[in-house]
Amino acid sequence: MGKNNKKQFNGQRETNVSTKVSVDKIKTKVNGGVFVYTGAISTGELSKTLNIPLGDIIKFLFMQGKMVTINTVLDDELIGTVCLEFGYDFQKKNIVAAENFEDLEINDDPSKLKPRPAVVTIMGHVDHGKTTLIDAIRNSNLVAGEFGGISQEIGAYQKEYNGEKITFIDTPGHEAFTAMRARGASVTDIVVLVVAADDGVMPQTIEAIDHAKAANVPIIVAINKMDKPGADPERVKQELMQHDVIAEDYGGDAICVEISAKQKKNIEGILEAILVVAELKELKANPDRYALGTVLEAKLDKNEGAKATLLIQNGTLKEGDYLVVGTSYGKARRMTNEYRKVLQEATPSTPVSVIGLGEVPQAGDRFMAFSEESEARSIATKRRLIKEQKERNATSAASLEDLFNKAKEGQRQTINLIIKADSTGSAEAVKASLEKLSTDDIKINIVRATSGAITESDVLLASASRAIIYGFNVRPDARTRAKASEEKIEIRLHRIIYALIEEIQAAMKGMLAPTFVEKITGQAEIRRLFKVSKLGTIAGCMVVEGVMRSTCGVRVIRDGIVIYEGKLASLQREKDSVKEVKNGFECGMLIENFNDIKEGDIIEGFESVEEK
Ligand code: GDP
Repeated sequence: MGKNNKKQFNGQRETNVSTKVSVDKIKTKVNGGVFVYTGAISTGELSKTLNIPLGDIIKFLFMQGKMVTINTVLDDELIGTVCLEFGYDFQKKNIVAAENFEDLEINDDPSKLKPRPAVVTIMGHVDHGKTTLIDAIRNSNLVAGEFGGISQEIGAYQKEYNGEKITFIDTPGHEAFTAMRARGASVTDIVVLVVAADDGVMPQTIEAIDHAKAANVPIIVAINKMDKPGADPERVKQELMQHDVIAEDYGGDAICVEISAKQKKNIEGILEAILVVAELKELKANPDRYALGTVLEAKLDKNEGAKATLLIQNGTLKEGDYLVVGTSYGKARRMTNEYRKVLQEATPSTPVSVIGLGEVPQAGDRFMAFSEESEARSIATKRRLIKEQKERNATSAASLEDLFNKAKEGQRQTINLIIKADSTGSAEAVKASLEKLSTDDIKINIVRATSGAITESDVLLASASRAIIYGFNVRPDARTRAKASEEKIEIRLHRIIYALIEEIQAAMKGMLAPTFVEKITGQAEIRRLFKVSKLGTIAGCMVVEGVMRSTCGVRVIRDGIVIYEGKLASLQREKDSVKEVKNGFECGMLIENFNDIKEGDIIEGFESVEEK
């Protein structure tokens, strides 16, 4: 391998082998009767590589009506014609630069490939029992932790059955996550399609089938709720047939397993079927190379910074490896599995939670590991530049009010939005939901959808692309807000996905007329904490913007993320209770029923005001 510099890509983790990404410098070669080339070459080069006398090639081309010399650069068609004439097949390879590692072709030596666990995604129509099945497999209760009907956290875990591991990706079961599911399928080897036996094939069942088919992933059908009186598995199979999922007993290859997720009946049947399909697929990877894979979920952790769940798809990720994820790089400082157990290394098909990343990546981002920090840094920088260039090319749009006006005038309109949310999952969910609202008249264009606080960089991008910024459970700090008002960028904040969607829908229909809008009165920074045994923790603050009023609603913001929203129990200057405290003054605040504050947190005051 070390000597074979014809390999397009080298990420082997062996001694004496460069771990650098090396792009094939050799333009042409002959490999088993196939002439492989990467771009335009001259007649001379072709003659040399194919070992055919130059005169023969020139003569042949002359007979075809083409006058060429030794230095003539041949196009693909001529190269192909010559190859076929002289008994060679031909293949053009695209040279892929290291920064586009998504497109790299990995050529592992077959002897290095080892079996890897199957990666399984559970899909299906809402309420058909996905969560219950995930739960039954995992033996923990997930259903309780949902907010607004949408699971906001994505997990992945491994389960061992009959001595074989299976990796499960939990996909949240709401329509808003369509985009995530599409991505789920691209890391997935097998889809378990949950269909309720008493309800049959429904719209999201069909959507899931489409995703699985598009990704060329086999489907195992879990016919669920078999305990219910109305259960009719034959009807389910017949309905599935209309969507080209043919059950085995109808002559097809889709394994159907009848289960009751609720009563935990025949869960083994599902696991069994997964192992059967996995064996057929002969899933393999090379554990000896530097890791490559996909971000399943990422968020900004209050204490640990950028944190991501990565699925290792090839290679092994070791603690201390440098990682390029999306457009940033970092070091795998600490890796943990789903039980928070620290891992030294993660092999193919293992999901791991990693900290040490430079930024919060996006779900669906690809990552790659490197041995050298400098290499990771330079590749991340190139990737960022490419991305920024793309973002800058975003089309022009307007403010929400413009949208409202133009919609009324009946002009075709593109509305650019930037979405910032508290987790990548939410960002993706909001993005997918909003994009769906596009109509023939109005196109919703999401310029950026990421997790984390609203920053000046978002405002700059909004300004460049005439976009509106939507914050979902995140806030801008005072500086960002100042910048936004300077640049006349609209920032709109929401806490519930439906409210956000409704607002946009209303605007699209030309009905944007909120009677109550929220006004931020000011912000204060917590400088010191005073614990008072009977009262709780008093925040010793400095008002850094606007004014804080005792009647205000307040939010506690840590690293740009809202961690609490409630009311003030008291507002004090020195020892006296006061009605308000202005910018530049110190004060003490006690938040009703909330004491989990820290120095450095921001307390934001807000009021509802009536507005036409
Ligand atoms: P999801 O939206 O697909 O994740 O569906 P859930 O797992 O949340 O299930 C929806 C409802 O169906 C819940 O009330 C479950 O208790 C119920 N359910 C799930 N599996 C079964 C089952 O096998 N039998 C019965 N009777 N109810 C089930």
